[in-house]
Amino acid sequence: MNYVGVLTKMKTENGSPIQYYLIFENDFLNVNQLLDKKVSISFLKYQCLNCSLDKKIYRQGFCYDCFFEIPQAADWIMRPELSTAHLGKEDRDLDYEKKVQLQPHIVYLANSSNVKVGVTRKNQVPTRWIDQGAHEAIEIVEVPNRYLAGITEVALKDHVGDKTNWRTMLKNEIKDENLIDWREKLKQFIPEEAMNYFIENNSETHLKFPVLQYPKKPKSLNLDKTPFFEAVLKGIKGQYLIFDDDTVFNVRSNEGYVVTLKMT
Ligand SMILES: [Zn+2]
Repeated sequence: MNYVGVLTKMKTENGSPIQYYLIFENDFLNVNQLLDKKVSISFLKYQCLNCSLDKKIYRQGFCYDCFFEIPQAADWIMRPELSTAHLGKEDRDLDYEKKVQLQPHIVYLANSSNVKVGVTRKNQVPTRWIDQGAHEAIEIVEVPNRYLAGITEVALKDHVGDKTNWRTMLKNEIKDENLIDWREKLKQFIPEEAMNYFIENNSETHLKFPVLQYPKKPKSLNLDKTPFFEAVLKGIKGQYLIFDDDTVFNVRSNEGYVVTLKMT
């Protein structure tokens, strides 16, 4: 079977295990079905997710020009504390910013390689945790806008990590942490403006990824350097495909790359 299309991050469905889907313009593929099969990836060209032109992808699936222009790639996406829609203040496109920023957001603790704090829109739970490869997570604060979530995250970053070590996550060198204990410990550092939104009573969410074999020394596939790759798929964790030769492929960081996927 052949599938051709521009990569976008895999869609997921929580389950035991999590189900992964690649969605192309004319094809829809349940990636779990490729486990234990030989899969090849050929890089064809770029296709910016905004302008569709064959221009080198700069970041987040966008070409350089689009990345610095469109509201979907503004600084407040990666740094929620820079959000200003709650003040009626425009960054790149106030209508878009109001739509995305002025909705319930969650500050959470997730354990992927270590416990880290993060921010997501409420409707992205548990998708966000799955994308990060977290095996457990818990909501700690639910606020009405992105700004409040951002300043809470910044305050907590001084006391807990905010990054995932992707090698540790993929090797599955993980520990079961008590995230309720972590939440209680971090409560004192939540900024006053967000304190009313602290979540007192909830429990950890546990996530089960479809992995048959974890890599021992994961090495990342770069399509610019290696435009053709073939191996047996052994697992999917976070947004990574894991192959039997320890190669891992981060689908999300290859958004905007047009590929042919072939399985035998
Ligand atoms: Zn573009």
